[in-house]
Amino acid sequence: MAKAKRKISHSKALLQRQLPFNHEGQYFDLKAIFNKINQQYFSRTPLRGYTVTWGRRRRLAPKEYFVFGTIQEEDRIIRIHPRLDASFVPLWFLEYVLYHEMLHSVVPDEIDSGGRRKVHTEEFYRREQQFQHYRRARRWEDENLARFLR
Ligand SMILES: [Zn+2]
Repeated sequence: MAKAKRKISHSKALLQRQLPFNHEGQYFDLKAIFNKINQQYFSRTPLRGYTVTWGRRRRLAPKEYFVFGTIQEEDRIIRIHPRLDASFVPLWFLEYVLYHEMLHSVVPDEIDSGGRRKVHTEEFYRREQQFQHYRRARRWEDENLARFLR
């Protein structure tokens, strides 16, 4: 099983091997934030065996939209955009980004009537709002998004 999986994503795996995971940024240590959020919000069903890492730095900022974080369930990898490792980013915003990605691992996806997979379900949004600084974080995102784009 594991072998087949590795074969399918061979080129990707090769690329990742050359770029080791790194949770320590210049301003934030993602592993410390992950552990704190895990303890604070997921103590009943803690996330285990996850790798949390800064994503690769790209030369150019994206133009249209910005992806703060991603979660790859098969490999249990949470990637956070390296542009968030900056002095102007509040810790509670980064915590929010981590919380959002971690929530994906506990809230199941749904299939809508058109057969499309929905990851941001009503249940997801309901639980997302349980984050302590939810409103503040969403406002900060709106007000600062332009700083991450070209
Ligand atoms: Zn999401």
